Amino acid sequence: MSRRHATKPDFTEIRAIYAELENRPLARQCQLSGQCCHFRLTGKTPQLTLGEANFAAYGVRASGRKELKPHPDGACPLLGKTGRCTIYDNRPFGCRTHFCRAAGGMYPRHQVADLIQRLESLDESLGGEGSRPLEAAVGDALHSL
Ligand code: SF4
Repeated sequence: MSRRHATKPDFTEIRAIYAELENRPLARQCQLSGQCCHFRLTGKTPQLTLGEANFAAYGVRASGRKELKPHPDGACPLLGKTGRCTIYDNRPFGCRTHFCRAAGGMYPRHQVADLIQRLESLDESLGGEGSRPLEAAVGDALHSL
């Protein structure tokens, strides 16, 4: 009889990347408006590498959900009814670098280029295929965790 063995995911590197970002003195004024989570309004969807997607999916699982449900307004499926992110601690890199104009716009690439490179290396080591739109990336990761 074959049996699937669930291995505890190793999030050491993704946590380290996010911690490093937190420690950078990059001024931002996020008002927690949730504006950047409304993809239909912004015309932008975060693109996730596999390490980010797995960590986000882990957050979804931790909140008791097994799959993503589309948001009725075309916003991020992880945006809660209260207008706040339901996986805030596990949110992807793009959500941490505030592409929202009101918060100061996207971080200048040269200030986070090394972290992006680490995300790409992690993606490669996990067998990823590069960045993918949030919904597809997290949806697939939920099935493979
Ligand atoms: S993951 Fe969270 S912070 Fe990022 S777009 Fe979705 S709801 Fe917003």
